[in-house]
Amino acid sequence: MATARKSEPSFRASVNTLFDNAIRHLNISKGLAEKIRVCNSTYTVRFGVKLRGDFQTFTGYRSVHSEHAEPVKGGIRYALSVNQDEVEALAALMTYKCAIVEVPFGGSKGGLCINPRDWSEDELERITRRFAFELIKRDLINPSQNVPAPDMGTGEREMAWIADQYKRMNTTDIDARACVTGKPLNAGGIRGRTEATGRGVQYALQDFFRHKEDVKVSGLKGDLKGKRIIIQGFGNVGYHAAKFLHEEDDARIVHIIEYNGALSNPKGIKVQAAKDWFSEHGTFKGFSGGTFTEKTEHLFEAECDILIPAAMEGVINLDNADHIDANVIIEAANGPVTAGADEILRKKGTVIIPDMYANAGGVTVSYFEWVKNLSHIRFGRMQRREEEARHRMLIDEIERATGDKVSKVFKERYIKGADELTLVRSGLDDTMRNAYASMRELWHQKRSDDANFDLRTAAYMISIQRVADSYRALGL
Ligand code: GLU
Repeated sequence: MATARKSEPSFRASVNTLFDNAIRHLNISKGLAEKIRVCNSTYTVRFGVKLRGDFQTFTGYRSVHSEHAEPVKGGIRYALSVNQDEVEALAALMTYKCAIVEVPFGGSKGGLCINPRDWSEDELERITRRFAFELIKRDLINPSQNVPAPDMGTGEREMAWIADQYKRMNTTDIDARACVTGKPLNAGGIRGRTEATGRGVQYALQDFFRHKEDVKVSGLKGDLKGKRIIIQGFGNVGYHAAKFLHEEDDARIVHIIEYNGALSNPKGIKVQAAKDWFSEHGTFKGFSGGTFTEKTEHLFEAECDILIPAAMEGVINLDNADHIDANVIIEAANGPVTAGADEILRKKGTVIIPDMYANAGGVTVSYFEWVKNLSHIRFGRMQRREEEARHRMLIDEIERATGDKVSKVFKERYIKGADELTLVRSGLDDTMRNAYASMRELWHQKRSDDANFDLRTAAYMISIQRVADSYRALGL
């Protein structure tokens, strides 16, 4: 998949341009704006691990963008393309992301230049533990200061190793588990974290379609049912977003684009079947539920209602922005649209639901996991059965008073107390709706003067203002 043109500014510069677009509308001093824009610090570490009979040297980063709220938060990425500019851009986006969804964290991000596929599980564990050791030693992993999470190339497994490494180095820290999120359930994780980013994308789209006025701006009509969707990237985020939109909202996933080919079906792809095939074969080739094509560039520009870039930054850039044929782009990835492409699409009237909001489901549920770890109790454990008993009492009383029976389905659903997963979903849905409400209010307010005013600028304005208010409250 194409990445930003060589002549386009870097990812970090692109984020800065989008930041500057918003600053123009805000009454924030130049000095404070600069303070918010820059990354506070970036730590680079080069460490050696003895593997395959020799020392192998690895380069890793942990960047802290803003400490207006602590701990700072953000994933750790494993990819060969990881570099300082990228890590800093992603750390900045974490600051704005946490602010827009009112998660009380500052922004951070980490990365390790490595292709995880080049190493065995045992080797990866040794590399991860060593990287974690370097970061823990400097409080760049710490429950009250800096809390990593999964990102591209990492998942539950790596988070469990990091948590264990922290515990070994801090044997008496009762809150040790809160040093990292995205852990497996048996290591202090929370239900619903794995699918949280994809789930958040679904909730964001559901809320967009709840607002007829907003749907009209995009030139679409109705709800998600039958909408033609293109997914680029079928990893954790793309897969879950596609699955939920297909299975629960009846949307049509018409193309799924992966690095080694795409799957198309104008009637809609059966997402779970496609995933099962892909997991087994490592390609869509041979799957009977759609047409396989090796060349994918043109599909990114195919006609659709909603385009979901869910992989890398910079995939919508000056080379293809003009040809994108979607009414709505929802940025499931971080920074998929370059600042240059953003300008073109804004003029074309494409509605972009921006990354800092669209993919905030992950960090939102990370926040719930962190709170769970600090409170040392599963959400719902105290009240669930009491809630059920009270509901049952009400149903019994209604049935006694009326002499009638309520339906079995209703009874079961009504009585059931909320378990952890239900609470996580409710908290995530609430978070996405609240954030969208604040963004759209500003969007419509500003659009009355400037038809090109977009949701991204609104999102940046709100989050920058929130960060500025925290700095002022801190007296900085
Ligand atoms: N890596 C994810 C992101 O970009 C999750 C961050 C987190 O949960 O801290 O938002």
